Amino acid sequence: HDWEKRVRYSCRVKTEKGIVVLVTGAAGFVGSHVSLALKRRGDGVLGLDNFNDYYDQSLKRARQGLLDKQGVFVVEGDINDAPLLKKLFDVVPFTHVMHLAAQAGVRYAMQNPNSYVHSNIAGLVTIFEICKSANPQPAIVWASSSSVYGLNSKVPFSESDRTDQPASLYAATKKAGEEIAHTYNHIYGLSITGLRFFTVYGPWGRPDMAYFFFTKDILQGKSIDVYQGLNKVDVARDFTYIDDIAKGCVAALDTAKKSTGSGGKKKGPAQLRIYNLGNTSPVSVPDLVNILERLLKVKAKKNIISMPSNGDVPFTHANVSLAHTELGYQPTTDLQTGLKKFVKWYLSYYGVPGRISKG
Ligand code: NAD
Repeated sequence: HDWEKRVRYSCRVKTEKGIVVLVTGAAGFVGSHVSLALKRRGDGVLGLDNFNDYYDQSLKRARQGLLDKQGVFVVEGDINDAPLLKKLFDVVPFTHVMHLAAQAGVRYAMQNPNSYVHSNIAGLVTIFEICKSANPQPAIVWASSSSVYGLNSKVPFSESDRTDQPASLYAATKKAGEEIAHTYNHIYGLSITGLRFFTVYGPWGRPDMAYFFFTKDILQGKSIDVYQGLNKVDVARDFTYIDDIAKGCVAALDTAKKSTGSGGKKKGPAQLRIYNLGNTSPVSVPDLVNILERLLKVKAKKNIISMPSNGDVPFTHANVSLAHTELGYQPTTDLQTGLKKFVKWYLSYYGVPGRISKG
């Protein structure tokens, strides 16, 4: 009873638009930021997360604490738990689902392939199934990934570019998700918007990502491995600041059309969209390290090594003109500015080395 009360309280709506969102992966990096952004403007927001141990669970708990303070309840559970989802939908008529829960990371798939199938394929289908049967059917916004472009040599990457050569199992499951989205849109009239995020970074970020563990290792005086691509070409990423991504997610949610229901025949076709959300200006990993050295005021010990063939791609670069035109998406934070905010958060959360330490 108390549980139901908390669910309802979390979903109370403070605007006329009446938007109530189920955010999966809410204790995650992107999910926590997006949940807060939605809550801040008065939407009803309920989180769902299984708090898995892919990385430091205490960081997920800390994000949960942050959400809790702002009135967002994060239900602990798996996206494959259909009865739990049914229970949530019985209590709350969600207008939208922001589906951000997934098994992220490229290298982890070498040892844990089934985790990707479980969360990114089976879990996605479970989410689409519950949305299909819900009344009203919520519009869905979900996270795909820039990794679907694989070893694409044509830059910048546009949504219409080929995505038939995923370089990792992670990428393959995201690509599969896009195909599955097509089917649910086509057969059941679900409104589905997929967002291809490009290397998201910022405060409350993911400890398994390079900018994060570089910061940790540089501060601890440990050496860092800096990968080089073929022919000693620097690896580069289109690093995108979390606030820009969160804004893009909210804009995608606001632009998502209502689902039309089975077949979509009566009310016209339901929306099926896919957008790049990136920063449009790739930075090489050596330049990333230079920025971190300046911000941390510590010189990094670097091992320059060739990139192992574990699923990473050498280069990413987003063309965001479609998201700009249709969502009004416009990234505004350069890497230097965004990393400054990340480092500030990192030092306040983990403490200055030698004084306090959590990690
Ligand atoms: P994250 O790991 O911090 O967040 C994902 C959250 O989902 C975690 O809290 C995890 O506990 C939860 N989760 C995982 N499997 C679950 C399951 N089966 N049931 C319930 N909860 C589950 O990752 P993130 O960086 O916030 O990524 C969010 C989404 O964006 C993911 O879909 C990811 O693939 C995608 N993405 C992220 C990036 C990036 O650079 N961060 C880039 C491209 C795509």
